[in-house]
Amino acid sequence: MATPTLSKSRFINGSQCHLRLWHDYHAPHLAKPADPTLQAIFDTGHEVGDLACARYPSGHLIAHDHRHTTEALEETSKLIDQDTFPALFEAAFTYQGLFARADIIERLPDGGWRLIEVKSTTRNKDVFVLDLAFQLGILRGAGLDVRDAGVLTLNRDYVYDGQQLDLDALFRYHPCYERADAMCESVGDQAKVMKSLITQDDPPDIAPGDHCFTPYTCPYHAHCTRDQAERDQASDALPALAPEQRNHIKHALASLTPPIRHLDFETFAPAIPRFAGTRPYEPIPFLFSIHTEHDGADPAHTDYLHKGEDDPRPQLADRLIDALGSEGSVCTYSGYERRMIKGLIAALPYRADALHAIEARLFDLYRPIRVGYYRSGYRGSLSLKSVLPLLSPDSGYDDLAITDGQTAAARYSLALNTKDRRQQQSLFDDLRAYCERDTLASVKIRQALASIS
Ligand code: SF4
Repeated sequence: MATPTLSKSRFINGSQCHLRLWHDYHAPHLAKPADPTLQAIFDTGHEVGDLACARYPSGHLIAHDHRHTTEALEETSKLIDQDTFPALFEAAFTYQGLFARADIIERLPDGGWRLIEVKSTTRNKDVFVLDLAFQLGILRGAGLDVRDAGVLTLNRDYVYDGQQLDLDALFRYHPCYERADAMCESVGDQAKVMKSLITQDDPPDIAPGDHCFTPYTCPYHAHCTRDQAERDQASDALPALAPEQRNHIKHALASLTPPIRHLDFETFAPAIPRFAGTRPYEPIPFLFSIHTEHDGADPAHTDYLHKGEDDPRPQLADRLIDALGSEGSVCTYSGYERRMIKGLIAALPYRADALHAIEARLFDLYRPIRVGYYRSGYRGSLSLKSVLPLLSPDSGYDDLAITDGQTAAARYSLALNTKDRRQQQSLFDDLRAYCERDTLASVKIRQALASIS
């Protein structure tokens, strides 16, 4: 076969794992399809990319898409030779079978260009510099005089005033020219190896491992681990606890005071802050669920879901304070709910006293579980979703449309954006069902622990 072009995203995939790269060319159908969570990540990337470009009001977008790369290359070449635009977005370059679209190239006042890679994170990472190095080699090979290069991320210290985004303060530029320059030669060598690999008929023999999640979660993981998953399921079980561990749990649970309530929040974390006083990726609670245990009766349930596009926190905090009353323990599973309550205290100082009082009643069920089971030698996951079916075999999340917090956040954004009322209602129902299941799981775990201890 003719050697296909190696793009920068494929190069990054290949630098994570040669098998991943081989799959990209020979068996892309084996990848996990993009779900709403992944789609939300892509959408965030586009939103951040557009704002980064808005910092250059006279810049020009090379709009030809990936099916029209020849046109993109021609337009780029033409505009670079003219002095019309101070910056180009998505400029296309090719060199020796390698291809890249640069997020931003900026014309420098004293001649030459600055290459900027835009990332929708708040931290610069090694993989971003690798990405820059790949582009730098191509741009130079194509004849561009690149004199500076760096990564533009969101600035985690930026606080939105609720009026207008300050685009200069929202972003942070990380200069990386020297590091990227130093990597160019080895990147060129790696690219040569990858170009040869993708012409091979047989996949490289690579076993799954930690590299499957670093720097990105590989979409072929389910395929590569299909045999392992079955073996893990068969061996998953919580060991019996020794008397000393049972005592530890019993002692911890004895501090609970009735009425025992169980609390869970769902949050979303907009990359671009939407509410006054918030920062990029600050988690905002939009939904809570509470189950209250009653002796001999089914636990009572209540919840609150914020359905408007305004800041959910003031109304959510009012409803939370009402629903939790002033007595009894409030069980959570992990320290996340405590952190969210602290966030509410900071955002709503006029509610601080009531929220501090709730914070003082929190009881983290995860702690006795962690101490008891880690001491017993159990090394499996102790997350709520892992522990629930082990302690309460008839319970689980399989019947739900949403089964994790990231998906919940993505579906909430979708629900707020859709114009389809029916779809919106269905998404809201799914969200409430998921959060309700979390607090019901917490009830079952407390009860299972009480009976074990
Ligand atoms: S799951 Fe792991 S081993 Fe399989 S292709 Fe992806 S990174 Fe490579």
